[in-house]
Amino acid sequence: MNRKRATVTAIVIVALILIVIYGLLDPASTRFPRCPFFQLTGFKCPGCGSQRAIHQLLHLNIAQAFRYNACLVLFLPVLIFLILADRLKVRYPRLYAASYNPAFSWSLFAVLMIWFIIRNIFGW
Ligand SMILES: [Zn+2]
Repeated sequence: MNRKRATVTAIVIVALILIVIYGLLDPASTRFPRCPFFQLTGFKCPGCGSQRAIHQLLHLNIAQAFRYNACLVLFLPVLIFLILADRLKVRYPRLYAASYNPAFSWSLFAVLMIWFIIRNIFGW
């Protein structure tokens, strides 16, 4: 149990540090690491624009975040659902089971792949 608590604490600390970094520094105008996939291929991966989108989300500029990475913004409710399903698994075991259903996971993966293809066709 202590190991699990230490892991969660480490994740929370890292998340808070990243929130501070992305809140204070704008990746659009600051030197941030570039996507290696984009650098190598010239194609945008599903995560391209995420750093800039996170910065905009932290400043509540939802529309601008959507322009940088629409998939990230649209997946936030899914992420919240997954976190809640995990945190409430004792009270709502069926919700937890649904969130770890392979069909659900494959559906998310399919959406990511469709996003990957569409954004490179239309230049999003
Ligand atoms: Zn990328």
